[in-house]
Amino acid sequence: MNIQMQVCGLIILLLILFFYKRQETVGLYTEALFQRALYTCMGCLVLDILSVVLIVNQERFPGLLVRAECKMYLVSLVGTGYVALVYACADVYNLVKVNRFIKIMGIAAAAVGVVIFLLPISIFCEGRDVYTYGPACIATYIGAVVLILVTLFYTAKRESGMNPRRRRAIRTWMAIWLISALIQLLNSQILLVGFAGALGIFILFFELENPEANIDRKTGFFNARAFADYVKHKYNSDEEAAGMLVSLDNAHSNDIRIEHMADIMAEVTDLIRRIPETKRFKTDDREFTLMFDNSEQMERAYNMINSRFQKEWLENVANVTPVILQPYYVLVPTAKVADSADEMLGFVRYFRAHCMDNPEIHIHVIDEKSVAQKRERDAMLATIIQAMEEDRVEVFFQPIYSTHTKKFVSAEALVRIRREDGSIIPPGLFIPIAEETGLIVRLGERVFEKVCRFITEYTPEQYGVEYIEINLSVVQCEAKSLAKCYSDIMDKYKINPAFINLEITESASIVMRKTLLDNMRALINYGVSFSLDDFGNGQSNLNYIVDMPVHIVKFDRDMTQAYFESEKARYVLQAATDMIQGLGLKVVAEGVETAEQLRELERLGIDYIQGYYFSKPIEVERYLEFLKVKNS
Ligand code: C2E
Ligand code: MG
Ligand code: MG
Repeated sequence: MNIQMQVCGLIILLLILFFYKRQETVGLYTEALFQRALYTCMGCLVLDILSVVLIVNQERFPGLLVRAECKMYLVSLVGTGYVALVYACADVYNLVKVNRFIKIMGIAAAAVGVVIFLLPISIFCEGRDVYTYGPACIATYIGAVVLILVTLFYTAKRESGMNPRRRRAIRTWMAIWLISALIQLLNSQILLVGFAGALGIFILFFELENPEANIDRKTGFFNARAFADYVKHKYNSDEEAAGMLVSLDNAHSNDIRIEHMADIMAEVTDLIRRIPETKRFKTDDREFTLMFDNSEQMERAYNMINSRFQKEWLENVANVTPVILQPYYVLVPTAKVADSADEMLGFVRYFRAHCMDNPEIHIHVIDEKSVAQKRERDAMLATIIQAMEEDRVEVFFQPIYSTHTKKFVSAEALVRIRREDGSIIPPGLFIPIAEETGLIVRLGERVFEKVCRFITEYTPEQYGVEYIEINLSVVQCEAKSLAKCYSDIMDKYKINPAFINLEITESASIVMRKTLLDNMRALINYGVSFSLDDFGNGQSNLNYIVDMPVHIVKFDRDMTQAYFESEKARYVLQAATDMIQGLGLKVVAEGVETAEQLRELERLGIDYIQGYYFSKPIEVERYLEFLKVKNS
């Protein structure tokens, strides 16, 4: 009997089934489809073998039964082709259109099945060689080849939305099938088609469906790749879900010795393993993500984990001071807040990074509110990028008055974005986002370049202006290339560097301060001066003024206002002014809004005044007008 190929195929499939069932699977839609394909293919091979056996022994069985069985095998071939097509559609199966397509193809395949049953079939049996032929077989060929071609066409058309590995695997499978069908057509004695189906399943298994590939080796939990697939699955199937990310990846845990961290991780893994009603994912080195069917389950798990973290770790390791660890959590009570899996994965990534950067945030809940904020932020980011592309970034100038010369000797350059409708977006709305994304570096350069162009084009020194103040973001100061970039721009516009004053704010870390100082020294050597902005806004440190090579200190609006509101603040401002001027530095008071405030600050000996009393920040033309009128 020529059933060696089929038996081989069946053994391959049984082995695959064995390895497949040994591992826990994530529960994805594609997994269900793969299993369906596996079982259909097995059924097809069993029917194939059975038909050969029946034909060889046909004198012992009723002819009708033998023919019916042979036809059943043929129908199962078409069925396998259909299952392959459905599997090929897996990546976009949620779309109504695809579902309709699958349904239509299913009806067509069933119709082919009925036709196969109705058409006559002939049986050939001579010695060891056995095969079937006739109209039913031809119908099967046509049906199967059409299904294969449709599948190939589909993988070509859906190129972009499809997992490339899936596309490759399916194409290989279909090609093997076509070739084997061709061989069998030319030589009916070689029964290859069933075996080719088994080969296809073999390829799918190794390319895509091996559950091992979804498992984290250390913990046995699912891995990050499986997590992304699972989230997509949940969205596509429109099932409700809740999720919780627990991470120990923070500065605090970095202080703990590596070997102790390994102990802690082992215990946390164990703890996570004991959490009921969840799918467990190890999404990063020190990070777990748990998925639940609803938020109540998530809350229970959160309490369980959190109560362990309230206690000390390492208490039974000798010579080690027990520590309290604070993990951070990103909680998603309902998946409904995001429109798609990709959006949700983006949220998780974003809020996770947010927690990581802000050690004081231990828990972040992705809910309607935070999602709205994140979307608003993304929209603003797009606005900034577009404005930069379309040159709608503008610089306004706010005049600064010298109490000594009684003239407007300076101005602060303040960035604005002009919307397409002509209205203005204030920097408070976009600077923080530009800083967070690093876009501030390019934006800051743009502003600096615009100021330089303004200086060469309008020569404001002719109206008595001595220098322009330009804001530098902390993020910009972190870039080693800052000094070179800014001096190149000044060279390009042939700017006298004494005309430039850069405003810095107090930067947080010591590491960064080194780069900042290098930048400052290089620029000071070039001829630029510096101001310390926002002095008195809460984080001010007198040491900073002593340590940093600044020439001017700017009192924040709050500090100026407080001077007129409280006795204490008055002493502080007075003392600070004395000290700063004692160091040989100048003082600017920002936020001066009334004549009375101006008089008082002048009396106090403040060097420069900036505020709405004189002018709000204004466009170039209005600023030049202002200078012409006021400084003449
Ligand atoms: P800042 O550098 O402290 O700028 C002073 C802010 O106070 C300006 O707000 C100015 O319009 C406002 N101001 C001045 N006088 C008065 C007053 O009398 N009353 C009131 N209520 N406000 C007054 P603006 O233009 O909205 O800028 C806000 C902040 O945005 C700036 O604070 C600065 O930190 C940042 N910024 C503006 N332009 C740039 C830029 O080009 N680069 C960078 N990195 N940051 C910028
Ligand atoms: Mg400023
Ligand atoms: Mg300021």
